[in-house]
Amino acid sequence: MKFCKKYEEYMQGQKEKKNLPGVGFKKLKKILKKCRRDHAPSRIAFNESINQQHGNNCPRECTVCDGNFFPELLKEMEDVVGWFNENAQKLLELHLASGFKKCLTWFKGNNRKKNHLGLIQEGKDLVNYALINAVAIRKILKKYDKIHESRQGQAFKTQVQKMRIEILQSPWLCELMAFHINLKESQKESGGVLASPALFDGCSLTFDDGKPLLSCELSDSVKVDIDLTCSICLDTVFDPISLTCGHIYCYMCACSAASVSVVDGLKTADPSEKCPLCREVCVYKGAVHLDELGILLKRSCREYWEERRKTERAERLKQAKEYWDYQCRSFTGI
Ligand SMILES: [Zn+2]
Ligand SMILES: [Zn+2]
Ligand SMILES: [Zn+2]
Repeated sequence: MKFCKKYEEYMQGQKEKKNLPGVGFKKLKKILKKCRRDHAPSRIAFNESINQQHGNNCPRECTVCDGNFFPELLKEMEDVVGWFNENAQKLLELHLASGFKKCLTWFKGNNRKKNHLGLIQEGKDLVNYALINAVAIRKILKKYDKIHESRQGQAFKTQVQKMRIEILQSPWLCELMAFHINLKESQKESGGVLASPALFDGCSLTFDDGKPLLSCELSDSVKVDIDLTCSICLDTVFDPISLTCGHIYCYMCACSAASVSVVDGLKTADPSEKCPLCREVCVYKGAVHLDELGILLKRSCREYWEERRKTERAERLKQAKEYWDYQCRSFTGI
């Protein structure tokens, strides 16, 4: 398998990063191989008897490898997404740091330009890491299904998405993609040269038929497209947030979906409130504000952004007034 080698090489090249978690591609393949070699005849006999009883669509588990395969992969996926989220967050905080911190870096002298390039590269490395691991996981699950002629691999994937450890669902991936474009643009403006190429050419924001799309492609094998249309107001997301299920909305729209006022905020949302798209519960409390995406959209569609800002400000004032009126009334008892 060509990808397996590419993946190994990639992980080898990342050795200087301490304790970088990855998918044990070779080990998992070995488990599958053993399953195919040692137990194929009995497995076929087992499947046949089941097929006779229930027809072809009956989901079945492999007693040979399920005990090792899925738990192992699950653990690895948790580590991968954990490491990615932590490091992406660190990098983005650094970039969005307060003016004070920026001053400090400024005073550190002529390192500034180098720092900028360093940040771009680091962002790119992290996106790479996310994408190549996503491909690795997809491939190994496909292999599982092929060997077992099952859909267990796909079912596992759905389960993992529900548990929110699918790396492509991470709000930090979306933030990093926006971050990457933001930095590249400012780099272009200052006339610098980009650092060495990575596995992907970069990310892009396009408006296809007015539909905003944030995309990133990794050597043809995987493409991440994030639709930036808010499914509540049906317009480009404004002041975007990502719920823990990975769905992106305008902050204000999310507040109304969660039946909370902007003054109270999403933190006060009832856990039973559902995401309008996937109907999952408990998705509001851990919502992540997408600051880099906000910056990118503001720059890319300035007029629209200004327009939304005006209406939003009016709505915020209105809600704040209602809130205080209510507070006063309950306080004075009138
Ligand atoms: Zn098996
Ligand atoms: Zn909206
Ligand atoms: Zn959702």
